[in-house]
Amino acid sequence: MSIQQQMRTELSKKKIFDQARSFAYEYIDGIEHMDVFPSKENIERLKTFDEPLSDKSSSAEEIIDQLHEFGSKATIAQLGGRYFGFVNGGAVPVALGVKWLSDVWDQCGGLYLTSPINSKLEQVCEQWLKTVFNLPMETVAGFVSGTSMANLSGLVAARFRLFKNLGWDINVKGINGAPEIKIFAHEQVHASIKKTLAMLGFGIENIHWIPSDTHGKLRLDRLPELDHRSLLILQAGNVNTGSFDDFDAICSQANKAGAWVHIDGAFGLWAAASKSLSYLTKGIEKASSWAVDGHKTLNTPYDSGIILCKDAEALISALQASGEYITYSEQRDPLLYTPELSKRSRAIELWATMKYLGKEGMNTMITEFHTRAKQLAEGLSESGFIILNEVVFNQVLIACENDQQTNFVLNTIQSSSQCWCGGSNWQGKSAIRISICSWMTTKEDINKTISIFTEAKNSLY
Ligand SMILES: *Cc1c(COP(=O)(O)O)cnc(C)c1O
Repeated sequence: MSIQQQMRTELSKKKIFDQARSFAYEYIDGIEHMDVFPSKENIERLKTFDEPLSDKSSSAEEIIDQLHEFGSKATIAQLGGRYFGFVNGGAVPVALGVKWLSDVWDQCGGLYLTSPINSKLEQVCEQWLKTVFNLPMETVAGFVSGTSMANLSGLVAARFRLFKNLGWDINVKGINGAPEIKIFAHEQVHASIKKTLAMLGFGIENIHWIPSDTHGKLRLDRLPELDHRSLLILQAGNVNTGSFDDFDAICSQANKAGAWVHIDGAFGLWAAASKSLSYLTKGIEKASSWAVDGHKTLNTPYDSGIILCKDAEALISALQASGEYITYSEQRDPLLYTPELSKRSRAIELWATMKYLGKEGMNTMITEFHTRAKQLAEGLSESGFIILNEVVFNQVLIACENDQQTNFVLNTIQSSSQCWCGGSNWQGKSAIRISICSWMTTKEDINKTISIFTEAKNSLY
């Protein structure tokens, strides 16, 4: 049988899809009992993949078997309730379901012509996002892989506009000999901002860093004089403390000066969807661009970053590098708003997640992250841990008496595989960082986590 005949049979028989589905079900059923981080043995077994590319074709069933047998066991329990590493987030079931279906569609999401359904759902998501974040009507959205790409898209739009205002078309004339623009950034910006500024040719040494206070918020009294040559980068959700900058006051000043404000709100922007936490995002609507992830706080599956930009012309011109505003078709052409051309039709999962949760569901889920974070902070504090941050959102920073103890406790917890959290450094101190951002995390998960921490601490003595 030729390889084409073989594939035709696989597609029509659907046996491999049933096989994948049953493995996925098995995985889901085991999620609450599996190791939160894979054991040494299971990581060791990944060696099975170290094989030369075969001359002959392989069996599809064996490939799926191998992936499940060796791959499933070397995953982290992201979908469960006790993975607290980085700011990863869980996955809303309906979004996993629509992802399966739309994966089979295999749409190229770049143009209306290559996927009318993707174009439509991007348009719907754009409207809904503006409602959730309360952003100006003229704001446009681009659907990218993550906030790193969303930050890149926002900063490239800012660069285009600021130079254009100075009579310099950056797309045509480039960086050499360009007039000076000034970049001001919160000193605790995420690494992706630094990377982006370097990639854009601004040079890390040319960034003016604005100091932050003990909570990780930008210090208003240290805000420099801004003007129409200025780009200011703020954050909604400090990756350590979860704190939010004072957008209302800062953006008012920036707007008077004609500066561009970009807000990195990867996980924090979603506080706007919680009735009791939306005070944290007050004034965000006064910025020029916003970067946010669906795959963190909103719990869409991975590959869901969004750039929102008030200045459509700047975003489109910067990403098309043509210097002018081109409309490709009467319908929405997704490629206009992202650096990519061919891309997954990723807005489908975002659409499903927002439609499924609705405003009430988002409010409940996001408010719960904060409630659980407070529960954890209180419980750990009662057990003698030091909480280093004010728990305003979903991040908790924990320490012991000294760095040595903190690191010991962190290692003990990580190797227990009963929950997982990462390490960080806060104001010169080692810290354990917990991010609560999965809908699966329950009150019992937090109680269990407090016991795991306490046990680890007791094993010190
Ligand atoms: C996660 C994160 C990013 C990077 O987002 P990716 O989706 O990982 O590309 C940027 N900024 C902040 C504040 C983040 O938490």
